Amino acid sequence: MKYLIVAAHPDDEVLGCGASISKWTQMGNEVHIIIVAEGATSRDFRRDQAKRKNDLNKLNQSAQNASKIMGVKSLNFLGFPDNRMDSVNLLDVIKPIENYIFDYQPDCLVTHHYGDLNIDHQIIHKAVITACRPQPNFCVKRIMSFEVPSSTDYQISNHVNSFYPNWYEDVSDFMKFKLSALNEYDSEMRQWPHSRSLENVEYLARNRGSNVGIAFAEAFSLLRFIN
Ligand SMILES: [Zn+2]
Repeated sequence: MKYLIVAAHPDDEVLGCGASISKWTQMGNEVHIIIVAEGATSRDFRRDQAKRKNDLNKLNQSAQNASKIMGVKSLNFLGFPDNRMDSVNLLDVIKPIENYIFDYQPDCLVTHHYGDLNIDHQIIHKAVITACRPQPNFCVKRIMSFEVPSSTDYQISNHVNSFYPNWYEDVSDFMKFKLSALNEYDSEMRQWPHSRSLENVEYLARNRGSNVGIAFAEAFSLLRFIN
């Protein structure tokens, strides 16, 4: 099988499904990753890529190291503004995603949950679903969304925004790859009890696992499945 992961920021791909990616690649599947926004530049009042050059280079390197650990086939950066995706025309986000879908012909597409607090996550969800609008002979047969600590859990719970997992990947043997990939993102990780801490990532996987009677799981929401 071929998987295409569309993540907003460098680290989302690992936080959302780093253990599952490692599992899928080690089982002989092909995984490609697209990271849509650049990261780091939202820390300033105005987007200043020159000022953040070192941070951006470091993030780029972190993403490449993490991808290597997870056995990913290709890693692509689209370089859109970090946490300012609402300043970009949606069509300009959809088009490159469509091109990658055409090039890679993935069977399964994995992206953000539409109800996340982060605006880039919401927009990328919308762009991916639009890029996957049903057409005859379309390659994508399965679309799933993942949860990202410090975004999915930061949203106010209500029926519209809540994340309802209904697909669990047993990642009991693959958490070590996720945690070591996250170690590459030391600039993005925080100390416990922050949601984006290594401890919380592990607790979440234990909790999702115990929901379905296994040691560690990554949970997904299945959005579409054509069999
Ligand atoms: Zn993100």
